[in-house]
Amino acid sequence: MKGAVLRKPGGFMDVYEHKPGAEKDRTHYCPGCGHGILHKLIAEALEDFEITERTVLISPVGCSVFAYYYFNTGNLQVPHGRAPAVATAVSRANPDSVVISYQGDGDLAAIGGNHIVQAANRGENITVFFVNNAIYGMTGGQMAPTTLEGMKTTTTPFGRNPATDGYPMKVAELLNALYAPVFIARTSLHDVANIRKTRAAVRKALQYNMDKKGFSLVEVLSMCPSNWKMGAVESQNWIKERMLDVFPLGTLRDRGAEVEPRQRPVPALDPDSVRKAMGTEKGAGKAFARPGAVPGVSNPSVRIAGFGGQGVLSTGVVLANLGLEYGYNVSWLPSYGPEMRGGTANCSVKIQDTTIGDTEATKPDVLIALNRPSLEKFEGIVKPGGILIYNSTLIEVQPTRGDVCVLAVPITGLADELGNTRVQSMVAVGAFAAATGLYAIEDIVALMPSLFSGEAIVRLNEKAVRAGHDFVKGIRS
Ligand code: SF4
Repeated sequence: MKGAVLRKPGGFMDVYEHKPGAEKDRTHYCPGCGHGILHKLIAEALEDFEITERTVLISPVGCSVFAYYYFNTGNLQVPHGRAPAVATAVSRANPDSVVISYQGDGDLAAIGGNHIVQAANRGENITVFFVNNAIYGMTGGQMAPTTLEGMKTTTTPFGRNPATDGYPMKVAELLNALYAPVFIARTSLHDVANIRKTRAAVRKALQYNMDKKGFSLVEVLSMCPSNWKMGAVESQNWIKERMLDVFPLGTLRDRGAEVEPRQRPVPALDPDSVRKAMGTEKGAGKAFARPGAVPGVSNPSVRIAGFGGQGVLSTGVVLANLGLEYGYNVSWLPSYGPEMRGGTANCSVKIQDTTIGDTEATKPDVLIALNRPSLEKFEGIVKPGGILIYNSTLIEVQPTRGDVCVLAVPITGLADELGNTRVQSMVAVGAFAAATGLYAIEDIVALMPSLFSGEAIVRLNEKAVRAGHDFVKGIRS
């Protein structure tokens, strides 16, 4: 460095507006904690490399869960241990972004142990900063995979015993067994000389990220005075005296000079290419004209729920496919119960003109409940003014909502009348079309040959769609 840095690095926000409370000029970390030091090293590098604008930082669960308060980057806070998976998605979707996964030892080495190994093995173009303080910090000092032998934590009050608790996990060495990573180093924050080495490692890892050379990880030994129950200086000494023997510092791997920038195939995501990849070209290009105005349910989110085997998921697939033919953006998100056939299942479908960000129908405009547990579970989340279609063959209770349009449709019974219970999914599709006005019955019928094989099956499903459609029309007429 040319001189002392007497201002906040440009990688940080000027004011931590997202941080609750009055103190918007300081972090939430404990005095003497290493997180603040590492944050600063990263923020300085972002500014110096002029990459703040195109960096996406993934915050974990742990003490650094609120990293998004501080970094003036794109930020995502993700479920425990899943930062490498989300980082993978961000990096692949935005190859020019610089993606950082910032994780602690409980998050990365325990809950997310498989995620980090798989991301490293794929050689994702991400940089992982792994904070090793040998303990779970945020949750109050439980044993982490990195806890030292004999170290007392709230869950090892007599000290970690390898006979029962295993040995400290050496993440850098573990990942160094893989072929793909380009840079793996372990540094420490316990004194100025080592902070400087950490600074250099942070920059090298980010440089490789910018150069698209693949996966890099910097494991950083960091003080946790609060859970170690020590003062700040004592914590620094404890790293030096206890941690360095177990976690030796240094660069385990640096293949940056020999590795070529990683070129990944760019996926073609236009509708025709997707249909071709999925083998569904037969139904492509119908380009149905949309029926007239659809009061109340334009751009609907839909939840379909029932037992496994009732055609819950296939109902959603058909609704989504129809939406494509009308030129909507669509999504289909299945959710399986713990069992297979006979267990509960539900799916979310979104049919929208706008981009779909969240694929789960948490407040659906339309609910199709095929059995009683599904009605009881999801009735409450339907949007006021929405539509609730329930399978009155199997559901003997009445919905309680008075602020939605309730349609009792004997979905299973209508399918049985056609001689095949399995076509209840298409009865539900017909009921949906009539209830919402979103799809025209003749368009659904026209799509049938692309959804089913065999003349007899197509005709049977056509009858099922018409049965559901006509029943709802009958209710409403
Ligand atoms: S609990 Fe430990 S790791 Fe967490 S903020 Fe405090 S000192 Fe830092």
